[in-house]
Amino acid sequence: MTTGSPTQPPTPTGPDGREHYQMLIGGSWTDAADGRRFDSINPFDGSHWADVPLAGEDDVDAAIRAARAAFDSGPWPTTPPSRRAALLRRLGDLITERADDLACVQVLENGKLIREVAGQTRALAGHCYFYAGVAETMHGQTLASSVPNMHVFTVREPIGVVAAITPWNSPLALLLWKLCPALAAGNTMVIKPSEVTPVSTLILGRLITEAGFPEGVVNIVTGGGSTGAALTRHAGIDKIAFTGSTSVGKTIAVTAAERLARVSLELGGKSPNIIFPDADLSNAVNGVLAGVFAATGQTCMAGSRVLVHQDVYNEFATALVERTKEIKIGDPLDPETEMGTVACLSQHRKVLDYIEIAQKEGATLLTGGKRPDDPALAKGLFVEPTVFSGVTNDMRIAREEVFGPVVVLIPFRDEDHAVEIANDTPFGLAAGVWTTDVARAHRMARRLRAGTVWINNYRKTNYVAPFGGFKESGLGRENGIEAVNEYTEIKTVWIDTGNRIADPFNPRA
Ligand code: NAD
Repeated sequence: MTTGSPTQPPTPTGPDGREHYQMLIGGSWTDAADGRRFDSINPFDGSHWADVPLAGEDDVDAAIRAARAAFDSGPWPTTPPSRRAALLRRLGDLITERADDLACVQVLENGKLIREVAGQTRALAGHCYFYAGVAETMHGQTLASSVPNMHVFTVREPIGVVAAITPWNSPLALLLWKLCPALAAGNTMVIKPSEVTPVSTLILGRLITEAGFPEGVVNIVTGGGSTGAALTRHAGIDKIAFTGSTSVGKTIAVTAAERLARVSLELGGKSPNIIFPDADLSNAVNGVLAGVFAATGQTCMAGSRVLVHQDVYNEFATALVERTKEIKIGDPLDPETEMGTVACLSQHRKVLDYIEIAQKEGATLLTGGKRPDDPALAKGLFVEPTVFSGVTNDMRIAREEVFGPVVVLIPFRDEDHAVEIANDTPFGLAAGVWTTDVARAHRMARRLRAGTVWINNYRKTNYVAPFGGFKESGLGRENGIEAVNEYTEIKTVWIDTGNRIADPFNPRA
């Protein structure tokens, strides 16, 4: 799949055709100290197409020591911002050059559609360029202090060594949301990608070395939850930037609290997508479909609770079900395919379990609810796009994150009722509103308790726009200038500009 680069040899391939990858520690490509490895499995055909090292505590320790050296006595925090910016720009250029490769590898790992991942991967360079600009323009403030003879100002300093732990649904995008602001601010990093999608991050590591970042500034260890836990426990980590499930996020917050390590958490959601009767309904149907079924429903921001005004409920449900039945399921590498697989076996089982739970709770299955019948798809981890009606907001299917192609329809009476249902959730990541009433759009945007509100659109993100959750959807913000706050400490400096300090024991001296 990958051909190597000027700084890296081609990926060694075994006699079985399987590709072998190494981790990046202190500028060297390396195996795990104890030699253990694990496989990357293609969820479309079940093939074990690549393997990677399984990092243990010793490997994690070595990676953190390399990052510490690059931070404590190394070049990175004192590298001029213009140089840090140039390296980020170079990384952006390399990502653009290799975007097709990077996109294909992600599809092999998580079964997302090539047409979706290709666009997402091409857009990644924008993050590098934006934070290159931030590196050069980041500044503190001069304060209007009332204390006589004092010049008081603030500077932004990097936090230190950042552990970045990422999930499998958008492995490179969610990594760059962390890496760009962290490196722009002068931090060094140890990255641990999901065990489901390690290869794409290792290939990105090659581009990072090719761009010319100094040794130890970025290190990558591969492994599962125990590798991640070893990283978060380690006293050498100053800040943990995590994207993943709310349950693991809470565990990480507790671990970080023991030594007050800084932490930012991008967690799960159960986002409402609200349809008012004055909406353009066909537009809203398209928006709801894209909002929940893109990436086979495996996005944190999936609009998985669709609240529909009772006057248009039947009309909307009929149109949504008709369109859902037309979604073309198939090979995620085929550009014609409209829905790929779920990323891994455990997630596949979880989605099917939730479909069963919903039916036991009394929800009405309108379409989907099973693996597709097509024998050509039998090896793949597919689930048909699934729509439930007859759902109330207290059912598990309305409260818990499924992270799969499952949407529930819930009717509402009026605006207050819609707000009440929408906000009645432990999560607060995102919300959508479909209306042609501009005053209502503004009212709803303010009343919904979520980090992002989309009006007449859904799932839009950009590097300029802060993203993150209220309540159990997380802590902190990624993207935008705000992301730099998550990777810097503010230092206040007081300079006495008076002549000299009077001797307190002999004031006339
Ligand atoms: P997960 O929480 O199972 O795993 C995420 C990462 O944490 C993986 O790298 C995993 O190996 C690691 N990990 C697991 N246990 C750990 C531990 N004890 N200590 C440290 N690291 C540990 O999540 P997932 O299944 O990979 O991803 C799906 C979840 O991610 C969903 O809940 C989804 O909503 C969330 N997500 C959130 C956002 C966001 O921006 N808010 C974006 C994408 C995904």
